[in-house]
Amino acid sequence: MIIENAHVVTVSGEEYPDGHIVVDGDRITAVGPGSAPDGALGAEHERIDARGCLATPGLVNTHHHLYQWASQGMVTDGTLFEWLTTLYKPWSKMDAEVAAGAATAGLAWLAKSGCTTSTDHHYLFPKGRGDLFAAEIEAAREVGVRFHPCRGSMDRGASQGGLPPDEVVEDLDTVLAATADAIDRYHDPSPGSMLRVAVAPCSPFSVSRDLLVESARLARDKGVRLHTHLAETVDEEEHTREQFGMTPAEYMDSIGWLGPDVWLAHCVHLHDTDVKRLAETGTGTAHCPSSNARLGAGIARVADLLAEGAPVGLGVDGSASAELVPLAGEVRQALYMQRARYGPAALTARQALEMATLGGARCLGREDEIGALEPGRLADIALWRMDGFRAAIDDPVVAFAFGPVPPLHRLIVGGRTVVDGDALVTVPQDEAARRGADAHRRLMRLAEEVL
Ligand SMILES: [Zn+2]
Repeated sequence: MIIENAHVVTVSGEEYPDGHIVVDGDRITAVGPGSAPDGALGAEHERIDARGCLATPGLVNTHHHLYQWASQGMVTDGTLFEWLTTLYKPWSKMDAEVAAGAATAGLAWLAKSGCTTSTDHHYLFPKGRGDLFAAEIEAAREVGVRFHPCRGSMDRGASQGGLPPDEVVEDLDTVLAATADAIDRYHDPSPGSMLRVAVAPCSPFSVSRDLLVESARLARDKGVRLHTHLAETVDEEEHTREQFGMTPAEYMDSIGWLGPDVWLAHCVHLHDTDVKRLAETGTGTAHCPSSNARLGAGIARVADLLAEGAPVGLGVDGSASAELVPLAGEVRQALYMQRARYGPAALTARQALEMATLGGARCLGREDEIGALEPGRLADIALWRMDGFRAAIDDPVVAFAFGPVPPLHRLIVGGRTVVDGDALVTVPQDEAARRGADAHRRLMRLAEEVL
């Protein structure tokens, strides 16, 4: 595949206003100015004229709960804890069919906004309702995005001082066995992998200290990454101070949960010492500005984290707290919210784009393979249409970051076209939407008696 005439932003330092990208198999083999060199590929190849397009690395989504596609638009005015305590009820009735439909729609929606790699944090496994983890893995395979699902968990129900009701939590041994099994069954550590599993107890207010400690031990034994929610709200900080006498970040630090193999969702309420510790330990942050705004949680200290050199990626978060949020739209949301809080120099358009690509790749431990356009990296590429109304802005990166999400000319994952002419081609787009709506209706039916 040869892409020509695009404004190419490699994100790793170079920009070519009229450049080319050559893709052979699942890898990029050349990137540079002007036309592709003669004989870059054999006679059999596809040539894409990307005139009027901005070429960026495919975007990386570092935090999501795909199952929440089935419970959007509910508890629209509550705090995180109010929102959670209401939604745990319908979520406890979810089955594999709901998870499959929600994941298909959610991943299709992500691909439509330029996402080539997504994680997912699934932490609810109601008994006897099928294999929910397998269902979302199958959905990612169908849609064709690179997938980093996290086997999540909760073991501290209300009777143990946790927030969730007892019926939605599992016990420690069940969680550890199921998590080990998910890693053994699905985790592919090989270069170019389309599927890597991470270990992800849900949050300090829904899991026991033992589960956090044992999860970290398991992940490090197996060589996989660790993920959880942290410092999302003031309520959470009150909870950890009351229960453990520490801030959420101090608590996690005290049990070996900061490190280069860990990335944390939100990190809104950090103290200066927490920011420094995250940077020192190389701990990543998944910044989810729309979700934080929707729940009134606050504005994360992204500018400070970046200034200290900590890895920061972007995430859409689950659709129940960030309805229909497009991943590319989080670039603008992050840019605007940082500036609203810290002033116009807080974050530049190019820094925001870097968070959505290379920053996310760092969070997922794949900064050598994805997140930038360079020879040898995986061919995960987004071609954005910057013609038409957008042509009035000379700098396409400014138009991309400050304006609304542009249409996709192409989205390529490992050399394979997933979106063409702004339409999903791996799964019929209408079908993906229908499966998402069916998942919602099915969940509402299953949860009738608890709503
Ligand atoms: Zn979340």
